Amino acid sequence: MPATLTAIDAPRVWIGCLACYNAGYLTGDWHDADVADLVTPEDLHSKPTDHEELWVMDHENFLGLIEGECSPSHATEMAELLAEIPANERQPFAIWFSTYADDDADPAAAVEEFRDAFMGEWDSEADFARERAALQMTEEEKELTTCWPFNAINWDYAAQELFSSGFDAEAAPGGGIYVFYIG
Ligand SMILES: [Zn+2]
Repeated sequence: MPATLTAIDAPRVWIGCLACYNAGYLTGDWHDADVADLVTPEDLHSKPTDHEELWVMDHENFLGLIEGECSPSHATEMAELLAEIPANERQPFAIWFSTYADDDADPAAAVEEFRDAFMGEWDSEADFARERAALQMTEEEKELTTCWPFNAINWDYAAQELFSSGFDAEAAPGGGIYVFYIG
């Protein structure tokens, strides 16, 4: 059930009070990242406080989109960005965004750019090169792909050429690769 899956995978953040932290003790708690920017110092201390600054000191399920610590509002922005991406594309999106998006990239534009760039998950670069070549073949030629000369093509070499001219491969968690067109 999609709702359950989302709940399990939902990004979470541990938000702590910086003033307490600097004084040598931890005041904080885990929160859903999509509402991290709504957490107040009073929420964390369970009473009125003059401590003001909150900070994300730990997080989970951001798939690499956040590294290290950040502000609660940044965590919320990244969580909202992930929520726009279908679950099965969140991992490649996080990799693409971390690798290619500018730090001050407009999130909505980043999603559009990712959709244009993402070429799917493949077993290997050679695998992608072979499929890419097939796209440019006529139906007649496709029927011949098991015959010479198609069966004699060195797809590793073909991939090397392809991936040095506009395509990029990044390791996918399952052992394959994500392919991106980066122009
Ligand atoms: Zn505090």
